[in-house]
Amino acid sequence: MALSRIAREVKTSATLAITAKAKQLQAKGVDVVGFGAGEPDFDIPENVKNAAIKAIKDNYNKYTPTAGAPELKEAVCEKLLKDNGLKYSPSQVIVSAGAKQSILNIVLVLCDTGDEAIIPAPYWVSYPEMVIMAGAMPVFLKTTDKEHFKITKESLARAITPRSKLLFMNSPSNPTGMVYTEKELREIIGFAVEKGLYVISDEIYEKVLYDGVRHFSPATFNDNCYKKVITVNGFSKVYAMTGWRLGYAAGPEEIIKAATNIQDHTTSGANSIAQKAGVEALKGNQDSVTQMISEFDKRRKYIIERLNNIKSVSCLLPQGAFYAFPKVSDLYKKKIGGQTVANSSDLVNVLLEKAHVAFVPGAPFGADEYIRISYATSMVNIEKGMDRFEKFLCS
Ligand code: PMP
Ligand code: GLU
Repeated sequence: MALSRIAREVKTSATLAITAKAKQLQAKGVDVVGFGAGEPDFDIPENVKNAAIKAIKDNYNKYTPTAGAPELKEAVCEKLLKDNGLKYSPSQVIVSAGAKQSILNIVLVLCDTGDEAIIPAPYWVSYPEMVIMAGAMPVFLKTTDKEHFKITKESLARAITPRSKLLFMNSPSNPTGMVYTEKELREIIGFAVEKGLYVISDEIYEKVLYDGVRHFSPATFNDNCYKKVITVNGFSKVYAMTGWRLGYAAGPEEIIKAATNIQDHTTSGANSIAQKAGVEALKGNQDSVTQMISEFDKRRKYIIERLNNIKSVSCLLPQGAFYAFPKVSDLYKKKIGGQTVANSSDLVNVLLEKAHVAFVPGAPFGADEYIRISYATSMVNIEKGMDRFEKFLCS
């Protein structure tokens, strides 16, 4: 079949695929412990649900403006000022069907055929695919646990070419849970913008932080950063609103206007009911966020300790997000469950089929030596899953 370039080149999302596979097995009655998708297992806060119910009862049914309902864009501006020290007007904000759509819009606005987009690896699975959709080239900047999965100004300098257009930053990071310090970020982003790069700062895990670590928004650093950094955030992680599909981007008006033109012809405005709920999420009581993070913290400590007690597995203590990213490559070339495991996909497949635990392979995050374990699941599941993992590797 003569499919288009995009159809030929864009791959499935490994995070979504493993989640779907685990759910299929569960539907067949297999007791699978899922550590796949990064989606909080908590309920949406009651006040947010009530705002959505009220919106339905009030017949808030019509298309909103493409870039978002004015009330939500105002709330986003207030949030960015209060939490991040970022001063934006509503014309500098676009609301989309998830942060994913906001990021794609921005990539399509900034990248042309032949442009290069620098993606620090390990990376969230969708960044390279979005760059490919734009016809541009992802350029990977590899890091390992040895350097705590962090790029530096020096490593970035080596990756920049005359075609470099865009840099992706994601702190706290999916999949590593790593968080850059203010000093590190200032140096990297300051250098990137000085070199003329645009930066997508994906801050979707900004509030999921541990051990008193702080988040910084690079667009605040100086005037040049303000002009070149597009800040992305959303409601999926902090308010557990994954299925409601709501996210946003803020940046220079010209870029946001062009992103709005693209969204005009793809999805129009995000879901109106979700947008009303989004206003309440941002403006209402934030206690549920604190509770969720303190629960994640308990799980984080437990799971990292369990992983580091398993022979041939080692894991850094993440400082943010809700993922463990253990190094497992010492298991490769060995027989596990009667099968020789050569890479992260083999390992994940054998674990799913034989031990009934669902992890995500590191390869689609650009790091085949690792696997990703989302601890956005109950403590009971985590204990059960870690028992199975440990027992299986010892069998
Ligand atoms: N960025 C990162 C780093 C993510 O992990 C995700 C996953 N949900 C997203 C963006 C997109 O989130 P959503 O589209 O659900 O807002
Ligand atoms: N971002 C989450 C993850 O990495 C949800 C799935 C997705 O959109 O990739 O698992």
